[in-house]
Amino acid sequence: MTDPAKTLCPYCGVGCGLEVVPVAQRPANADQPGQPQWQARGDRGHPSSQGMVCVKGATVAESIDRDRLLHPMLRASLDDPFEPVSWEVALDAIVNRIQAVRQTLGPDGICVYGSGQFQTEDYYVAQKLVKGCLGTNNFDANSRLCMSSAVAGYIHSFGADGPPCCYADLETTDCAFLIGTNAAECHPIAFNRLRKHHKRNANVKLIVVDPRRTDTAKVADLHLAIRPGSDITLLNGIGHLLLRWGALTPEFIDGHTQGFAAYTEVLRHYPPEVVAERCGIAVADLETTARIWADAKAVLSLWSMGLNQSSEGTAKVRALINLHLMTGQLGRPGAGPFSLTGQPNAMGGREAGGLSHILPGYRLVKEAEHRRQVEQFWGLPTGQIAAKPGLSVGEMMLALERQQVGLLWIAATNPAVSLPDLNRTKAALRQSPFTVYQDAYYPTETAAFAHLLLPAAQWGEKTGTMTNSERVITLCPAFRPPPGEARPDWEIFAEVGRRLGFAQQFAFTTSAEVHREFAQLTQGRPCDMTGVSHARLATLGPIQWPCPDSETPDTAATKHDKRLYTDGTFATADGRARFAPVHEKGLAEPPDERYPFVLTTGRLYGHWHTQTRTGRIEKIQKMHPQPFLEMHPRDAEQMPIEEGAWVEVRSQRGLARLPVLVTLNIRRGTLFVPMHWGSLWADDAECNALTHSEVCPISGQPELKACAVQVVPVAHPPLDSTTQALPQATESSILSAAPTS
Ligand code: SF4
Repeated sequence: MTDPAKTLCPYCGVGCGLEVVPVAQRPANADQPGQPQWQARGDRGHPSSQGMVCVKGATVAESIDRDRLLHPMLRASLDDPFEPVSWEVALDAIVNRIQAVRQTLGPDGICVYGSGQFQTEDYYVAQKLVKGCLGTNNFDANSRLCMSSAVAGYIHSFGADGPPCCYADLETTDCAFLIGTNAAECHPIAFNRLRKHHKRNANVKLIVVDPRRTDTAKVADLHLAIRPGSDITLLNGIGHLLLRWGALTPEFIDGHTQGFAAYTEVLRHYPPEVVAERCGIAVADLETTARIWADAKAVLSLWSMGLNQSSEGTAKVRALINLHLMTGQLGRPGAGPFSLTGQPNAMGGREAGGLSHILPGYRLVKEAEHRRQVEQFWGLPTGQIAAKPGLSVGEMMLALERQQVGLLWIAATNPAVSLPDLNRTKAALRQSPFTVYQDAYYPTETAAFAHLLLPAAQWGEKTGTMTNSERVITLCPAFRPPPGEARPDWEIFAEVGRRLGFAQQFAFTTSAEVHREFAQLTQGRPCDMTGVSHARLATLGPIQWPCPDSETPDTAATKHDKRLYTDGTFATADGRARFAPVHEKGLAEPPDERYPFVLTTGRLYGHWHTQTRTGRIEKIQKMHPQPFLEMHPRDAEQMPIEEGAWVEVRSQRGLARLPVLVTLNIRRGTLFVPMHWGSLWADDAECNALTHSEVCPISGQPELKACAVQVVPVAHPPLDSTTQALPQATESSILSAAPTS
């Protein structure tokens, strides 16, 4: 019997270990010799997930061979059909275009948009090509939409990025404070570990802050259904009470922080009555929350998109971190501010410099010394890396509108569904003179905007590493060859680099060599992983960073509860963390008479992002057959609208047509639409046709979580019998694990 391949689930940032086994033989066809079909199950040996997987991980192998892009395809214009071409022709087209754009528009006429689906090796080679050799920082990733506010919050409060906590904290905390995260559906296995701990220990409190009564909120001891956008008011209100009660740790504040006086000045403006009124909650609930926080030995806060996807996302993250600083709740078991990442390797992207303002090894573009270190390491002349941060993905769309882009290169992501203000985004994509789209699947919505398609090897077809939310790095070995002519992303970037004349910089022959070089560049940095290599990961299993080469490999591999800042020394120049004196500014687009509802968006248990994989898996399609709009019964009554009736949801930018799910699980005045449906999977159901593109001025993350809309009943054929029951995940479905034998 074949040994299972041990790898990582390629969906969310929880990073569950998988074992993948062949189960049957797929017949040969014109493109591919016969190959095994595969089945995934939880890997009991993986420290992060301990054998558990959710439905996405359990079914992921079913999507491996569905609708794969097998050959490079080229067309002269978006109106022409694609024609298959050789890799030679495809690579020539890219190289010629890059050279032409450098001469006409300069290096900043090139924009590359990648994804947390990349392995770290893909990210690293892309940074070396784009930021190093081409001399533009215009590389951004879909992590911009997902957690760039968390990155900015950590950097500004602690001096460096990096979640300081680990999953062991889920089982040692006595107060879990979840804000802006529906972890039960979006990070199910991490939530499962917390939920088990909560169930077993009556003294452990679970507080959930969310305008919706999500599956996470349903099992909480206390659910604060705050008004969308009132997070900072709530957090400052908790801070006000902690200050009033003297529930502080003066020795931590005095010895390890800066800026407390300015923060207390802000807190004066958030007395309980004012906060409760602005947040739309009871004073008693606010006081209970603050009391639980004050009395807890260890407070663990968890958040994801609900804080990050906001025009004041960084301020929200920092307002949360303030509470940990004033109470000394970090750097020890069960305590700390823990950002849950969305993409499987969003963390690896952060380590490898995969956003337009950062460089490998948790370095910043704006720091001259950081640029110099990377230039020297890459053997490039001083000044080769541009001093200015590159364009975020939103800025790339604006640059397309202004005809300032000569080449747009998109890889492993689907912006024609996931970016805000989608009608305008699509119009901008149509303006691109030449778009390369590198992906494993075809069709996708974004392929319709491409001139050149490049088939990419995906999960399981290339060897590389991924880092999950708790900084655990897992080796993901290739267990099958790529189909057709698909190639690993890092190989494509490296080949383009060589053809542009950078043979020395891209002399890699294996991804292990890529990783070795990348790891060296982390030496002495907060994310030091010089003690990590493909060989060590293969023999010792997953390793958590920091892991400098001085660390004993065996110890490094068996310890998965390393916390950051355990001695209270932070990564700032003076070693002190920074309080942030932040006030709430509110929603960028508040509701008004014409658009009276706040629309919020989110994810469902079974689907992943824009359905590129999960839309091709029957079990998940049956679980979530179609999009819907959640509305409170009183709002529905006022319209009047009945359950299952169709409505048109309109914002200033676009519309969506959806059936209504009437539910008490949402606040009055707030509506919810899942974000998974692009034009490939349903007509007029794109939530991002409605959202606006205002971003956090510090992180550049768009406010995908809130926009103002109106609702108009429309005639539509009734739902058929398979879709009458608009789906909601149940707790039992979330907590069930796949077979692990
Ligand atoms: Fe994959 Fe589910 Fe684990 Fe996320 S929680 S990594 S989707 S199995």
